[in-house]
Amino acid sequence: VIRLEDIRKSYFMGKQELPVLKGISLLINKNEYVALMGPSGSGKSTLMNILGCLDTPTGGTYVLNGKNVSNMVDDQLADVRNVEIGFVFQQFNLLPRLTAWENVALPLIYSGAARKEREERARAMLQKVGLAERAHHKPNELSGGQSQRVAIARALINNPSILLADEPTGNLDTKTSVEIMELFGSIHAQGNTVVLVTHEEDIANYTQRVIRVRDGVVESDIRQQATAHK
Ligand code: ATP
Ligand code: MG
Repeated sequence: VIRLEDIRKSYFMGKQELPVLKGISLLINKNEYVALMGPSGSGKSTLMNILGCLDTPTGGTYVLNGKNVSNMVDDQLADVRNVEIGFVFQQFNLLPRLTAWENVALPLIYSGAARKEREERARAMLQKVGLAERAHHKPNELSGGQSQRVAIARALINNPSILLADEPTGNLDTKTSVEIMELFGSIHAQGNTVVLVTHEEDIANYTQRVIRVRDGVVESDIRQQATAHK
């Protein structure tokens, strides 16, 4: 599904170049469940943004589902992102004025679906993440765990092949984190490819493969039995 070859990324501040990713090569197959770990500043979010087609590398090749996306321009990238990728953030990134179902339905606006269909699909997705009864609540009326469920439902609404999550439990307490990881586990069990960033070994233990990044390169890449599975 995901093939990275010698991916490099630098940020430029004026003439100053800050190299962040220094040659990352990776193969992530369909239905893998991967945790990306590494120290703060090692480039995890930078890598996730490239994987999610939110940003482009400054060097190397990224092939996503057979398409070379490394040289695509913004419009093309947005199309790929809409169809292939679901992205979940640490801060949930919900729109405060919209209800839960409206947030979930947001990506459907771009596909041109009518409001009634959008609501039906969003409600069905909220049901899947265990939040059917909160469909009409606004984000400030939801707990952190509920907000993250809404964000996950939104990420899944277009049936993407890959679900990416950058520290999805970073703002959640332990009990809520476990619930969210159980939800990711069931999403993976339904055949999705899941890649998440975490600082916590306990969270990484829910996954089947742990890739550690340090100073912009892959330090280790280890397959494991998911030990924390329910
Ligand atoms: P954390 O665990 O703290 O989230 P991270 O591994 O996700 O860290 P990144 O956010 O990828 O790290 O950042 C890697 C490096 O790139 C850092 O030194 C950061 O300051 C720098 N950086 C990230 N985004 C930008 C940007 N848009 N412009 C300039 N520098 C950036
Ligand atoms: Mg980060």
